[in-house]
Amino acid sequence: MLWHWGQSNLAWGACGIFLAAGLVISAGSIAETGAPHAPGSPGVIQVQGAASTSVMVATALPSKVKTTANLNLRTGPSTAYRILVTIPQGTTVNVLAQASTGWYKVSYAGYIGWVSNSYVSIVSSSTPSTLPATVRTTANLNLRTGPSTAYWILATIPQGTTVKVLARAANGWYKVSYAGLTGWVSNAYVTTSTGTSAPSAPQSTGPNRTSRVVLTFDDCPRTLSSFTSTIKYAADHNMGLVLAPTGNCLSSFRSRYGVDLASLARAKGQWVINHSVSHPDLRPLSCSAAAAELGGSGVHTNFGRPPYGAIDASVRCAYDRVGMAIWTWSRDTLDWSTKSKSITVARASAARPGDTVLMHMQWQGFAPDSLRQIKANLANRGVGVCRAYHGSDGAGAVARTPVLLPSSLPC
Ligand SMILES: [Zn+2]
Repeated sequence: MLWHWGQSNLAWGACGIFLAAGLVISAGSIAETGAPHAPGSPGVIQVQGAASTSVMVATALPSKVKTTANLNLRTGPSTAYRILVTIPQGTTVNVLAQASTGWYKVSYAGYIGWVSNSYVSIVSSSTPSTLPATVRTTANLNLRTGPSTAYWILATIPQGTTVKVLARAANGWYKVSYAGLTGWVSNAYVTTSTGTSAPSAPQSTGPNRTSRVVLTFDDCPRTLSSFTSTIKYAADHNMGLVLAPTGNCLSSFRSRYGVDLASLARAKGQWVINHSVSHPDLRPLSCSAAAAELGGSGVHTNFGRPPYGAIDASVRCAYDRVGMAIWTWSRDTLDWSTKSKSITVARASAARPGDTVLMHMQWQGFAPDSLRQIKANLANRGVGVCRAYHGSDGAGAVARTPVLLPSSLPC
């Protein structure tokens, strides 16, 4: 879990989930071994959670079941088969089929296998027809590890955010995907929506809805000192840059210097978005594989930039799956091609109001003097640059930016 070092509460929350699941599993109480199957004929299942009355219901195949214990996923529908992975208690999985033994064929974390029907509960069979694809938050709303306020808070979702719905609990809470996290929100503070995955923002200009220009820098700085001097210059001159480092970049600086670039940038009022872990063209990857590139050691937040700006339906699927919005750019300096400071500065300085300008941390635009020139040139044309973050009230000194970007960036 080293990659969580220095991250915010958001990342620690995710870390906590992982550790908790691991600890429970290592305690050795995996369900299912030698368990009796539910009595009755195929197509008749025992509803867990109604144990005292042992309710029997005849039913069609449920679309989802939820594990009521840490449960082994196996290669076939009995304990005679090999274990693929252990599914944590409380996980909702998609049902693909049911064996005559009663066991369910399910998909989980990229695996397809079988689980005992004795340790799952059916996620209400009426749910699929009424489950909304998305909901929108009507308040700043806590995302929790389970469907009640008794569970840990993973993140707070800003009011007005649209999130993808994965399931609904019996008490009405929604299981949703947001900013790379999966958790639960109260149904009392959301409204159903037909919109797409959150947060809704123009693809090329993202959450900047102002006339100020956003200077964005991808990939990885050449040195730690070039990074710290540039973000310090930006903060000291009231510029709010958007940085999109890769997960491999973050890992490299963490291992070499023990620093978290994302945290350093946020401390200077700068915005940090996802840029994948290893910078592949995501298009040849499956939705699941691409989604994996959007998690891991990469930046965990609600906006991300696909490497090379390469987008197709599968890539969109991946961003939807992790609850992240795509933010590309509206003006490209081609700094990586010219490797020229003067050309890069000139191209960035030609930005129109509201533009998102693409540059890279390893090239000539990412330096105090380049920022100075770009800001001055834009000002001469009456165009402003996105300002550093000054807290939610916009007053006072430069403040640490939140991990999750607001749906409207306070440029
Ligand atoms: Zn890149």
